[in-house]
Amino acid sequence: MAAWRLAQARKDVLLLEAKSFPRFKPCAGWVTPKALATLEIDPLTYPHLLIPISQVAIALDGDLLVTSWPQPVSYGVLRSELDDFLLKRARAAGADVRFGQRVDRVEWLGSRVSLQVGDEHWISEQVIGAGGSSCPVARAVEGRSLWKHRPMVAAIMSESPVGASRLLESSLGTGMPVLFPEPECDGYGWYFAKGDFLNLGVGALLAGGLAIPQRHKRFLQSLARDGTLPDSWTLSPFVGHSYAVWRGRRTHPAGPHYLLTGDAAGLAHDFSGEGIGPAALSGSLAAAALIHPDSVRGYQDYNRRIALIQGNGPLVRTGAWVEKWPLFVRRKLLARLCRHPWTRRRWILEGAFLHGLEP
Ligand SMILES: Cc1cc2nc3c(=O)[nH]c(=O)nc-3n(C[C@H](O)[C@H](O)[C@H](O)COP(=O)(O)OP(=O)(O)OC[C@H]3O[C@@H](n4cnc5c(N)ncnc54)[C@H](O)[C@@H]3O)c2cc1C
Repeated sequence: MAAWRLAQARKDVLLLEAKSFPRFKPCAGWVTPKALATLEIDPLTYPHLLIPISQVAIALDGDLLVTSWPQPVSYGVLRSELDDFLLKRARAAGADVRFGQRVDRVEWLGSRVSLQVGDEHWISEQVIGAGGSSCPVARAVEGRSLWKHRPMVAAIMSESPVGASRLLESSLGTGMPVLFPEPECDGYGWYFAKGDFLNLGVGALLAGGLAIPQRHKRFLQSLARDGTLPDSWTLSPFVGHSYAVWRGRRTHPAGPHYLLTGDAAGLAHDFSGEGIGPAALSGSLAAAALIHPDSVRGYQDYNRRIALIQGNGPLVRTGAWVEKWPLFVRRKLLARLCRHPWTRRRWILEGAFLHGLEP
């Protein structure tokens, strides 16, 4: 997003990407209309898989609690396709996009920054760290304390090409994401059928609760036990990934000569774990900061706008307060909120997942 915007403004942009694209990225591929609008993607002209979502279900103690909207409130995409589309768009606008270029080392040389890729060094006045949760720029800025003070989410997921007809014949092919709150009230499992693909996984805050491999096993066993997931289906291997979520952190994601975006800055939303929208928005704002005629004002504006957007809103504050309550009370409260159609729609789905639904 940043490379695209900078190239559009006729800046010299070099984008170093470790992998070759299209690449697999562990993700459920749930994109809000707001994220799509930030990405400047029109759902009507996007050339890849885009499944409109106008129903979401929460599975609780064997019941499927369905909420519907008269219009799509989100979309399902394949990350491999979306990310490839974005890089191709940046390249078409004039960005120099290079694949297979893993940045091994980032060093500050006075007012410039050096990026080492194998034996090569790239020197620049500004760098945007958009390398996700293992971003080398974030490491260079924040050192070994990078993940120490951040609330981390760990997740494991699989995206399997089981075929649209098989999905439709099964109870998984409802066309809506189904969310399974974790009994520890610190995460959720999900399944989501998108075209030929079944995406399923589980994620939770990494704060000393049950480990992800055990949650994964428990989730799959529950799907198999009630016959939701047919025994005969072979799923693609499950892949684990962890990333930081924003929980009222007050660190500055930019300073002289660098700006951190997306997961490199830990910008994913609390509760839902949505990170595509924040990554897109921060990429766009990072480009605006570099286009700013006064570079110091540019990065200060960036820090201010990120703090305003993510902020320490009422939902985050209430969540942090409720987290101190005993687990059995939280479980009861969550069950009540999920079972009541109004609180499920307004607080859980539109509040924590769809951010008020504004486009
Ligand atoms: C299981 C799971 C499910 C999720 N589901 C959703 C969802 O449904 N909706 C949603 O909005 N968010 C979801 N998220 C969060 C979302 O995937 C991330 O927040 C988002 O991808 C962050 O984007 P990013 O561009 O910052 O980082 P990334 O998407 O991780 O991209 C970083 C890129 O940097 C490259 N890179 C890394 N290191 C280097 C290096 N040293 N040199 C060069 N290149 C490097 C990587 O190859 C990668 O291509 C999910 C996350 C997980 C783990």
